[in-house]
Amino acid sequence: MRIRLFARRRPSSALPRPRRAVLAGALLAASTAAVTALPAVAAPPAQCWTPESYALQPGERTPRRATAADRVSQPPPAVAGPAVTGPLSGVIRRVELPKGVKLVALTFDLCETGGQVAGYDGPIFDTLRKEGVPATFFAGGKWLETHPQRAQQIAADPLFEIGNHSWDHANLHAADDSRMSQEILTAQAAIGAAKTASVAACPAAAPVSKLSLFRFPYGSCSAASLAAANANGEVVIQWDVVSGDPADIGAKAIADNVMRQVRPGSIIVMHANGNGKHTREGLPLVIARLRAAGYGFATVSDLIAAGKPVAASSCYIDHPGDTARYDKAADAKAAKAKAAAPATHASADVAAPAAQ
Ligand SMILES: [Zn+2]
Repeated sequence: MRIRLFARRRPSSALPRPRRAVLAGALLAASTAAVTALPAVAAPPAQCWTPESYALQPGERTPRRATAADRVSQPPPAVAGPAVTGPLSGVIRRVELPKGVKLVALTFDLCETGGQVAGYDGPIFDTLRKEGVPATFFAGGKWLETHPQRAQQIAADPLFEIGNHSWDHANLHAADDSRMSQEILTAQAAIGAAKTASVAACPAAAPVSKLSLFRFPYGSCSAASLAAANANGEVVIQWDVVSGDPADIGAKAIADNVMRQVRPGSIIVMHANGNGKHTREGLPLVIARLRAAGYGFATVSDLIAAGKPVAASSCYIDHPGDTARYDKAADAKAAKAKAAAPATHASADVAAPAAQ
């Protein structure tokens, strides 16, 4: 099991500070054979994108209603990977790490529903890059298609990994196997397309192959939809730390929430699509306070590689991140659709408020 040590150079014209060896503290603390530093990884070269192209564009941060001009077509489904079985199956909420290793994974959802174009909360990405902090983004396939340059920049950045957050953020609690395959594999195709496009735009920054990660919209799943996700080759990820960033609680409360729940191996959920009200102000505080407490940062794939995943057999029904209200809404809608048209697949979409 190995962890990548990030010690990369970023041209000063593109970003303010070089990245640092973010895992160094954790690795020094863990003189165990389970953790090994890999050679430094090169940053995407400056000529791939200009500093201006990384900068936030007017109106880009805030989600908005989609217009006809925003329409994107759902790509043909990707081929499913090998079924996930054994310790990686089920719903992974945290990772048990070797004694002395203090790593956490910051995760950000990039949810986008059918009727909207979600935001790109640029300051979050700027902070992560400036601080050299790895992160995992769970992106809707549709989000990737409506944000093509951002998708390429994220895919090309060795600090980041992209997980699957379904095509358009449907509640999949009541989805059958065929619906699950469609949602997962069309989003997987969009992830593949973003990676291919990023290599074309930035050949020196070819994405590293990692685990195929999936996060259920709203954190809502059933035993059947969970099994279908694993059968389609997806490692299902939830969290054990809820930042609470969709609520208007302010930066300090976000950091307080994280620090109250965090422990080594934690997976922390936040949003980078504009659904987080104060995530961009809270993130620097979260990073500073975690560092002060001796934590280093890893992507979810690297966190899993550093230890033993702790998986549940069902999505959350009780806190943290209770999914019961979403589950019930999806079940009710599916039952109604089935009664109205028993020969067709029920749509399990719910117009839920901002959530995971
Ligand atoms: Zn989401």
